[in-house]
This record gives sequence, structure tokens and C-alpha cells, in this order.
Amino acid sequence: MKIKVLAVSTVAFCLLTVSSIATVQAASQDSVTVYSARKEHLIQPLFKAFTKDTGIKVEYLTGKGNALIERLKLEGKNTPADMFMTVDAGNLWYAGSQDLFQSVQTDTIKNNIPAHLRDPQGLWTGLSVRARTIVYSTKRVDPADLSTYADLSLPKWQNRLCLRTSRKIYTKSLVAAVIYNHGKDAAGEIISGWVNNLAATPNAKDSQVMQAILSGQCDAGLVNTYYFGRLIEKNPDAALKLFWANQDTTGVHVNISGAGVTKHASNATGAIALLEWLSSAKAQTIYGALNKEYPANQNVDSDPVVSAWGAFKQDKMNLSQAGILQAEAVKLMQIKGYR
Ligand code: FE
Repeated sequence: MKIKVLAVSTVAFCLLTVSSIATVQAASQDSVTVYSARKEHLIQPLFKAFTKDTGIKVEYLTGKGNALIERLKLEGKNTPADMFMTVDAGNLWYAGSQDLFQSVQTDTIKNNIPAHLRDPQGLWTGLSVRARTIVYSTKRVDPADLSTYADLSLPKWQNRLCLRTSRKIYTKSLVAAVIYNHGKDAAGEIISGWVNNLAATPNAKDSQVMQAILSGQCDAGLVNTYYFGRLIEKNPDAALKLFWANQDTTGVHVNISGAGVTKHASNATGAIALLEWLSSAKAQTIYGALNKEYPANQNVDSDPVVSAWGAFKQDKMNLSQAGILQAEAVKLMQIKGYR
């Protein structure tokens, strides 16, 4: 078994770039092997705590999400991975669509994680929540003028908007939610309006969107909240604030980081134990503090830094829609000239 796994891994290593590896071995029942698109510093403290609580070791390998998905496909039945972790429901849905996960629907997970943050078939589970909402200049925007994602498409925002590139999965998932909430035609109008209001070519990163607002290039944009958290930590006096979009309508668009048990897990029992543990109050508190994200478990309080931004209503769209509507979102953005 070990030889087979190592042989496949060697082939995969030649084809793929994997940024780091912590001795992936043939799985035994007292260890779980995780492939993770989440960076090592965000997952290692959790795995350590899990091992301390349960005695089950965690072997992990981190890398780019797409590379890890390709690796799982290549390895097939011989994969050493029992679990795959990544960010964005669009990515989790894609891994599910490639038949890489098995269904896990335990009472513990159902009780800990609300249904809209889980795949309806149980293929993946959200483990942390990030909100993608409006960020604005406190110097040039009166928050009374802000309301919804759709409002940013109106002419009053002409030359005042900065957005992230349409190539990023976060943008695709947000636009999928706009399609889900408004229908395709109205969503097309909203995207056209956004494009008309752009003050600059879409940015490669959320941090650049905020820098552009700070430098006066634009007045408002859309970002994931933890990027705002990182900026404010470094620059507490930055003239930027978050605004919770769609509070009188569908709620703020949220997304997840999450995980699923692989279809060919050799230690599915261990992987399910890890997934359940990750959804627990203890793990969710650690998760929230590490990346300034929100707990997926709604019975757990947010980290104090994050709670200071205020409570908000989340969009309850089931996040599998971010995957189901992804191709349509990409097509619509192309048609409307959102680059
Ligand atoms: Fe991110």
C-alpha cells in the first residue's frame, strides 16, 4: 500500500506545484490525511488541538486548490487523502462535481452547521464564514447613501466604484448570488451598471480595492471582511468602513471555507471525526480568531475584533448555488464586459 501511494505521489509531484508537504504517508486508522488549500498557519493549530483531544494524528499537504483537485483526480482510488479543505463554495462544489467527495450527514454536523452552509447531499461542509460586502471611504461617502449590491449599479456611483477581477472565484460566487436573488435579466442590468460605474480596471486583489479607495481613485468597493480586518489591524486610522449590504432585502452575501471527506478515503471514520470536531464550538472559536472569519457554527460567538464591525443578516441562499450558477455568472460577466 505504502509503495503504491508513494509512486502515485511522485508522479503527481512532477506534474503539480504543491507549496509544502508534511510527510504524507499511507494512511493508518490512527491518522487522517488532509489535502488543504488553506495555508498551513491557518490549519496547523486546529489539527494540533484535534490530535490532543482525540489522539488521532493529522498528516497534511497544502497547495493551490486547483492543483490539489487535479492531484486527487490523478490519484483516484490510491489517494492518501481522507479529506480535502478549500475556500469558497464554488471550489467545494466543483470538487463535488468531479466525484471527489463522499456524502457525510451526521447529526453532529447538522446540529452545528446551518443548512445553507452545507451541500444538500452532504458532500462538503462550511467550517468558517466570510462576508463579501461594501467597503467605503469615510471621507467621501455618507453611509446613508449605501444600501444594496444593486444600488452600486445606479448612476450616482459613476466613476466611484472599484471591484475585484471577474476571474476570482469570490466574484463568480457573488454574481451567482445576484443571479439567484434577482433572476438573470435583472442581474445582467446590475452587472452592466457596476461596469459603467468603475473608476478603474478591476483589481487583482481585495487589498488593492481598499488601497484604491484610500488613495482617492474610487469611493466604494466590495471585499471579503477578513481583508478589511487585516488592513485595519495594520492601519487602525484608515478612512474606511464596512457597510452591511442588503439588510432590508436578502442579506449580506456570505461564503465559506470548508471541507469534505474524500470519496476514496482509507480512514473515512477518522475524517468524519475530524470534520465533526472542526464544526464544534472549540474548533470554531480557534478558526474565527485565526483569520478574522465568522464561525460557521451559529452558537459560537465571533472573535471580538470581528464582532466590533457589528451584527448583520446573512443571505441564506444555499451555497451549492454558487457552484450551480457559476457558469452562468461567468457568461453574464463576459457579456456585460466585466473583466
Ligand atoms: Fe481570500
